[in-house]
Amino acid sequence: CGIVGVLGNHEAAPLLVEALKRLEYRGYDSAGIATVCEGHLDRRRAVGKLANLSDLLVHEPLAGKSGIGHTRWATHGAATIENAHPHRSGPVAVVHNGIIENFRELREFLAKAGMGHATDTDTETVAMLAQYYLDQGLAPREAAKETIGRLEGAYAICLLFEGENDLMIAARQGSPLAIGHGDGEMFVGSDAIALSPLTDRITYLEEGDWAILTRETLEIRDLNGEQVSRAVKKVSIAN
Ligand code: GLU
Repeated sequence: CGIVGVLGNHEAAPLLVEALKRLEYRGYDSAGIATVCEGHLDRRRAVGKLANLSDLLVHEPLAGKSGIGHTRWATHGAATIENAHPHRSGPVAVVHNGIIENFRELREFLAKAGMGHATDTDTETVAMLAQYYLDQGLAPREAAKETIGRLEGAYAICLLFEGENDLMIAARQGSPLAIGHGDGEMFVGSDAIALSPLTDRITYLEEGDWAILTRETLEIRDLNGEQVSRAVKKVSIAN
């Protein structure tokens, strides 16, 4: 029910958890984060309160300055650790708000390609599709483009890739998504409130937009793959 992403210059895990706390008001049943540290992708997830995720991170810390986080309000699959986000398929991790309406068709397509699903969620198919396209030899941003092009339904998603310390891909259709601009840092959030301790410079993605983020650059494309420009707004939110 809430998404955050950090390409930062500090440890991402505490920033992600803090940003997720600011999205708690939306309600959730489980939470998780994934980071890339020196190219290595890893994740931690917990059912229930964010405090459970924080406790887990004390015992099993997650290093890395690039990461994504999620609070889940289950729509497909029970509120279990297996179904909690981020979902992972090989070198791809994804967080998702909303519903992928055609996940059954996508599952069938992936099953024919020899990829079996491991969770009850609609979201997992997004990570699996991205892995499928990477396996076909596509680069991460091309794999993301192909994946997003096949998704039907309402979603805000954020993707992180093994081996990519400076890349995040975000997309929205039917669920809001904000990009935060830092100084040599870039952030993603379901809303500007989540990002308010990090930055007040926000770009709102429009319907069908998808964004390729690095620490220094933000490239936004529409559904046809055309590059588009979206304003950077200064928002003021009381912390
Ligand atoms: N449909 C997804 C799930 O059930 C995402 C739910 C959400 O928006 O948190 O895992």
